[in-house]
Amino acid sequence: MQYCHVCGTKLPDDAAFCPNCGTKVMDMSGKTATGAATSPSDEMREAFTRMSLEMEKAFNIAARELQGAFETARNNIQKNVYKAPIICSNCGEKNSPSADYCVKCGKKLSLPSTEQDKTNQPSGT
Ligand SMILES: [Zn+2]
Ligand SMILES: [Zn+2]
Repeated sequence: MQYCHVCGTKLPDDAAFCPNCGTKVMDMSGKTATGAATSPSDEMREAFTRMSLEMEKAFNIAARELQGAFETARNNIQKNVYKAPIICSNCGEKNSPSADYCVKCGKKLSLPSTEQDKTNQPSGT
């Protein structure tokens, strides 16, 4: 129930103007008059929410695929590095990665990374 804000007359629920003084009724309660029930923004928001969810899903899938591809590439690189032949520092012969000694000159082959760990032990005690 609402009242005219000018003359205080009780107004019918669907009144757009005060029947007593003719003042345009201010729609304070929002539950009557102007029957534009469902605002278009609600539908928009729902659509946006749905859309953003779809996008998020798609983005997650894409990100996962990208990450998978990235990891595969990185593994390949590591594998290739590991598979790289050991070049003899003495004669320059390319030896297989599993070789310990040069097949050509017999020099002990050293893997650049693991070598230091073994020899770098502190001499004490
Ligand atoms: Zn009035
Ligand atoms: Zn050699």
